[in-house]
Amino acid sequence: MKKLEDLVDTYLHKGLRNKLIETLKEKGITDEQVLAAIHSIPRHYFLDSAFDKIAYEDRAFPIASDQTISQPYTVAYQTQLLQIKKGDKVLEIGTGSMYQTTVLAALGAKVYTIERQKQLFEQTPTYLFKEQYPNIEFFFGDGFEGLPLLAPFDKILITAAAPKIPEKLWEQLKVNGKMIIPLDESDTAQRMLRLTKKKDGTVKREAFDTFSFVPMLEGKTQK
Ligand code: SAH
Repeated sequence: MKKLEDLVDTYLHKGLRNKLIETLKEKGITDEQVLAAIHSIPRHYFLDSAFDKIAYEDRAFPIASDQTISQPYTVAYQTQLLQIKKGDKVLEIGTGSMYQTTVLAALGAKVYTIERQKQLFEQTPTYLFKEQYPNIEFFFGDGFEGLPLLAPFDKILITAAAPKIPEKLWEQLKVNGKMIIPLDESDTAQRMLRLTKKKDGTVKREAFDTFSFVPMLEGKTQK
């Protein structure tokens, strides 16, 4: 189990993070607050120590339960589309490594995050930044159900490939709220969508680039 006091964030790591920020800018990320949040978070803490030297490459890496930590560009892209304001109540589907969760918390959101893989959820009580980011609550469950008792949310972020727009999540979004969803377009590609709930309950739909995510699956695992 990793402990914050045992981990080191060296000048090498910080230098690699600077380079990562340059790469994200070159790829079109412009939101300074998003870039600053990514710059401030040691991504290598969220990965197995075997990945220490390559943690700042702009790519996804394997984590437990055959899942992945999203590529930094994808994290930056989704977060930029969310337009987080301090105090926003955000529901994240797919806690995974807790890296994207931390980016949202660093932007001042109140984050509610759900994971369906028990093994991944069981890592959340030892979250490294508990003291720095007390504005996160972790849940074990099926993201298709959302968190009806805590709804409505200002923003909803889905970090797995969704086969459809989850109806229950749409219901848990506030008026003027935004949902970022990578929606299946083929077996291997998802179209990034930003859905805004209009006053009359209808949807404003904006389409962006395509990405490749692990699938959003129904139910939760037993182990
Ligand atoms: N945000 C994570 C991304 C992990 S990959 C990170 O940056 O590390 C997507 C995650 O979504 C996986 O952990 C997967 O188990 C989870 N997931 C898939 N379907 C889900 C569902 N229905 N409810 C909750 N989590 C789900």
